Amino acid sequence: MNINCFLECEVCENKIHLKVYAGYVEFNPFSYYCPECGITIDGHILLNLSHGIIDRKFFNNAKEIPRESNVSHLLQVSSDFFTDKISGYNPTNPKLFFSPYMMNVVKHGGETTQLKASFAEIFTSNVQTDFNINHRIWQLYKKKKTKYLNAQLIKYKFVAPVILGQVLKVDHDDVILDVLYKPFKILLKQNGYYSEILDLRKELKKIKDKYPDQVLQLHLELKELINDMENSLVHLLENFVEFYKFIFPTILSSAFKTDDIEEIKNQQGILTTNFEQLKNYYVDAYEILCSGLVGFVGLQNIKLRGDRNSFHDEYRKSAKNITSIVEFIDKANNKGNRVKYFSTENIYNKFFDICSILNNGIRNSIGHYSYSYDTDQQLITFKDKSDEIKLYLVEFSDILYETFYGTIVSLEVFHFIKTCNK
Ligand SMILES: [Zn+2]
Repeated sequence: MNINCFLECEVCENKIHLKVYAGYVEFNPFSYYCPECGITIDGHILLNLSHGIIDRKFFNNAKEIPRESNVSHLLQVSSDFFTDKISGYNPTNPKLFFSPYMMNVVKHGGETTQLKASFAEIFTSNVQTDFNINHRIWQLYKKKKTKYLNAQLIKYKFVAPVILGQVLKVDHDDVILDVLYKPFKILLKQNGYYSEILDLRKELKKIKDKYPDQVLQLHLELKELINDMENSLVHLLENFVEFYKFIFPTILSSAFKTDDIEEIKNQQGILTTNFEQLKNYYVDAYEILCSGLVGFVGLQNIKLRGDRNSFHDEYRKSAKNITSIVEFIDKANNKGNRVKYFSTENIYNKFFDICSILNNGIRNSIGHYSYSYDTDQQLITFKDKSDEIKLYLVEFSDILYETFYGTIVSLEVFHFIKTCNK
């Protein structure tokens, strides 16, 4: 469905033509900066999919006006696809007549575009409800409310029921990851990540088979951290359920491998969100994933040198006061240094490129509000001391999306350490 809106800025009265391609997703957010006065104008269009009608339009800082020919800019929004960045209004622009859907059919073929659309519909209509149910099960698991936990596990078919009179035997630690991943499973399967998770499990098991005592010691030393991390990581999954809709074009493109961000970033972007809306999700992910790096370091030391306390040479030279994992937890508080540990070696690289996803410069720049944003280009400049990092919004959204996979890898690592005494 193509929705044409004409909006007038409430500050400067500048008028734009907003063309929303609403595909198969109920909630279609958009965000842009007024090309004249620069204020943020955002809102959403809520669709009633079963009736194919608009349920509600919501605009903040702008009002809808009747069709207007005197507009300064054309903005194309799609909840499913990358679209051109804001451009001056040109009545002969073919994009006025073709939807992003059609443009995608031309570029990527009808079949892929159709698959994407069906995927979008299934994923978006289930992920929130599934997550709510599974979060409920997660709470029962953490609080060890076995009776209710088992009842929910049976109700939602995570375990099979037993005949009356028999005792239900469930390894809750075993089933809980399935529960947590279920809302995202269609995504994890589509982009091939699910099989990578299974590979990661095999890799971790090999470490345990070779050095069972070391892994067990690590388990004992990290007990408190495991508990904290579990809760924090589930919080990050919850964040993802909130922010995915703002970066859905990025997620769909990555899952279906349709667009190379390097190739499109100059011309195309996403108007479903703005940087302000996304930045704090990145900070949350950075803080939590960095806290979990202790577990990653411990296992890596065991795998590469047979001893959890055996750090690599470079680290030993630079941090002479840290000689064990326990000291690493207490004293290596600088998160940037924790990340740096993996620039020398990273056994998880295939699953989680720690150094490029957890960027201390970006995190600091957000924390200190020392960034700037070029609205037309959708280009963010992060400044951290004398360093400057420039990223397009599509690149930033891609890094943010990668933190979701970092979260899954961290869940695997901590689940492994938690259950390695079995
Ligand atoms: Zn304005």
